[in-house]
Amino acid sequence: MARSMSVEEARNLVLEPLSALPAEEVAILESFNRVLAKDVASDIDVAPFDNSAMDGFAVRAADLAGATMEAPRSLEVVAHVAAGDDVAGIEIGPGQAARIMTGAPVPAGADSVVMVECTQVLADGTNSDTSGGIGSVVAFEIEPKLGEHIRHRGEEVMAGDTVMRAGEVLGPAGIGLLAATGHSAVVVHRRPRVAIISTGSELVEIAEKPGPGKIRNSNSYSLAAQVVAVGGIPLRFPIVIDDPDAIREAFLRAAKESDFIVTSGGVSVGDFDYVRPVLEELGELTFCKVMMRPGNPQTFGSIRGVPFFGLPGNPTSTYVGFEMFVRPALRAMQGFSAAEQRPRTWARLAHDVKKKPDRRYYLRGVVERTESGYEASVPCSQSSALLTAAHKGNCFVVLPEGERMFTTGTLVECVRLDMEEGVS
Ligand code: AMP
Ligand code: MG
Repeated sequence: MARSMSVEEARNLVLEPLSALPAEEVAILESFNRVLAKDVASDIDVAPFDNSAMDGFAVRAADLAGATMEAPRSLEVVAHVAAGDDVAGIEIGPGQAARIMTGAPVPAGADSVVMVECTQVLADGTNSDTSGGIGSVVAFEIEPKLGEHIRHRGEEVMAGDTVMRAGEVLGPAGIGLLAATGHSAVVVHRRPRVAIISTGSELVEIAEKPGPGKIRNSNSYSLAAQVVAVGGIPLRFPIVIDDPDAIREAFLRAAKESDFIVTSGGVSVGDFDYVRPVLEELGELTFCKVMMRPGNPQTFGSIRGVPFFGLPGNPTSTYVGFEMFVRPALRAMQGFSAAEQRPRTWARLAHDVKKKPDRRYYLRGVVERTESGYEASVPCSQSSALLTAAHKGNCFVVLPEGERMFTTGTLVECVRLDMEEGVS
């Protein structure tokens, strides 16, 4: 199937055969930014007991019926409850109140809390270590609503009930819920192990000064960072020369050791481009051309059931191809919703941009908010061999297929690389 297809069609073909990887149990903090594979239930009621939302006094609301600033009502303080105290055995009777702190349990008999700001201590208790402590008489200047400023037992979740469901993503608040409900470990989808194979006889390791005709293998590292950024585990393979046997050996090893194989280079129509023929020999080819710039020869298939994505070797083509196809695939494998994409911002071009009237362009640019709305600009050097524009940019400026000239002020779509999928 050598037909060229749209980015959307290609992305759908990549996502279609993928499902979330099996689950694993990980320590609570390892689950950050990952997707729950199993519902989470609580072992206790949260909150575990009725407690005060304010520093003030726990009272019986009926005692303060009609209390105002002008006509306050007074109660006698019979208990002093701090956060962490046990209130078993304490009972607030008619005409009585308990001095209470935020988070402290509400003693029996009390049904409301009045904040300290709405009270005045008339007489301090003789044995009080604090103003308004036990033995004090306090005037209340408002009538509380029944239950006011009390956080009720089980308000967040009841013991045995589900607090989070499979498919939900664990952010910092979710991690807090895990902790509150007694989970020091949790079941989430596994992270994909991603084999990264740079092919090219011109490549040398980055510690080396490249000799004549050679260049450093930068793609292996930018790809590894992209894998980490999406939550995968990069397995960087040694450089593979443009030789079918060497490529075959690397691909077979990768199919054994990884959940997803990403390669760079060797997918064009050059005399030494062996990635596609070896893929066809060992596995299946789904597509090998996408109507986009940079990166027309995007190559997708599978080897021994392991998804395989062959990215072109030009550093920016590699970068864009990963972002458009591999990133969504690795998200789907972690259980994230495949429907979620990077947010898009529509912006006005800050300057003219020319293109060839062929494929869709994904230019590396900057989108920013100005006084007159969002503005997009692209640096003049957009060569796919250069990385600086991508490094400085925060978006892909999308120029649709066909057209040729985009003048200053034209509205263009920008794919926000500085925002996560699912943000709107
Ligand atoms: P290819 O896709 O193999 O035709 O390579 C396209 C261009 O990308 C060539 O100029 C290669 O030298 C360059 N290239 C290929 N692989 C890498 C890599 N791993 N790191 C940096 N540049 C590369
Ligand atoms: Mg090459």
